[in-house]
Amino acid sequence: MYCRDCGTKLSLRFLENEGLVPYCDQCGKFKFPFFPVAVSMAVERRTDHKILLAKHVGDDEYKLLAGYVKKGESAEKTIARELKEETGLPTVKWKYLGSRYHDEKDILMLGFLVTTEELAIKPNEELAETRWCTYEEAKELIKKNSTAEAFLNAAIAELGRKK
Ligand SMILES: [Zn+2]
Repeated sequence: MYCRDCGTKLSLRFLENEGLVPYCDQCGKFKFPFFPVAVSMAVERRTDHKILLAKHVGDDEYKLLAGYVKKGESAEKTIARELKEETGLPTVKWKYLGSRYHDEKDILMLGFLVTTEELAIKPNEELAETRWCTYEEAKELIKKNSTAEAFLNAAIAELGRKK
């Protein structure tokens, strides 16, 4: 780990109430790590509560739609923007499901249940396939032991509570 300001190799130093935090001797400051934040969206249709799974180009597994939060953007704004960009669908409402840290890619993922209308999908070039699934189909098709699966299960639990 190197200092993002001066390039000096960072060491770990104890900081009260925080534990071990990267420290730059050159700057004389603690340097908390930066990492990207992304949203993961379990998109459900308002009319029949089917859930949208998608395969991205070059990926053989079904996942939920997801996208990075842009600098200066709120996660709520990211949801509406990403859903529109990737599928052309509108965001009617959303509910926060929780978050998970995705270790392999060092990303904080925020999970949302997003409600949309029953309209034709206009997939963008990132999507190879989209599919509206019943809860059972979605559970069967989603990539196992993935962050997407955890958010899918949370979304289905949330939808179950509403009935
Ligand atoms: Zn530095």
